[in-house]
Amino acid sequence: MLKIENLTARIGEGDEAKSIINGLTLEVPAGEVHAVMGPNGAGKSTLAYVLTGRDGYEVDGGSATLSGEDLLNMDPEERAAKGVFLSFQYPVEIPGVPVMTFVRAAMNAQRKARGEEEISAPDFIKKAREVGEKLKIDAEMLKRPVNVGFSGGEKKRLEIFQMMMLEPRFAILDETDSGLDIDALKTVSDGVNALRSPDRGMLVITHYQRLLDHIRPDKVHVFAKGRVVKSGGPELAEQLEREGYDGILGEPV
Ligand code: ADP
Ligand code: MG
Ligand code: MG
Repeated sequence: MLKIENLTARIGEGDEAKSIINGLTLEVPAGEVHAVMGPNGAGKSTLAYVLTGRDGYEVDGGSATLSGEDLLNMDPEERAAKGVFLSFQYPVEIPGVPVMTFVRAAMNAQRKARGEEEISAPDFIKKAREVGEKLKIDAEMLKRPVNVGFSGGEKKRLEIFQMMMLEPRFAILDETDSGLDIDALKTVSDGVNALRSPDRGMLVITHYQRLLDHIRPDKVHVFAKGRVVKSGGPELAEQLEREGYDGILGEPV
């Protein structure tokens, strides 16, 4: 499904340019959930931005394909249309735009890019109600402006709501490292577990092991200095929790 080979990428231009991803190789087969862990500044978020095509991130070498299609040559809208979804580490507030309006627009943009018809209002409302019930989201919350005055847990729940509405083919979750209470952790992990499917892949970026207690990833990759330095099963996350990154990597990071 997702195949990244020897990827090199930088932030910025000219004198300001800074190489962040340094020869990264990573593969997530369809049906699997992989975790990416690593110290602050390792380049985890940068990888997510490079994969989704965010402005200001330049690829210098290597490749990234989704089901054999070159992602790096697509503009961000095309990637989204192909079903690449990124949840945000720092959710933005959008005053004046209700959640329902925002999510419906995102769904329709994706459909349009795929040459599909817009979702009808009744179908959208039905789906929103079903997903909302699963995530225990209050109908009132869906009428409020996106993230304005939302608690940390509500923001997480909204991200997962969006993800479940969009039904991505490949989802990347870039977790905020702090501020996730037990309820929010459960929301995120329940969402990921509900979306597990044979034709979907997921990459869960997290700083801490505790999220992985609920998700049980198929593989864990440890990231340092812009590349994968170690991969293993879920037990690798537990080892990290015990020994720290220095212990795992055998050198200070
Ligand atoms: P992580 O998500 O693993 O904590 P990031 O991908 O956010 O790491 O950052 C990787 C490195 O890139 C860090 O050294 C960070 O300071 C640097 N960096 C991130 N964003 C920018 C930016 N906009 N301009 C310059 N450097 C950046
Ligand atoms: Mg960070
Ligand atoms: Mg980050």
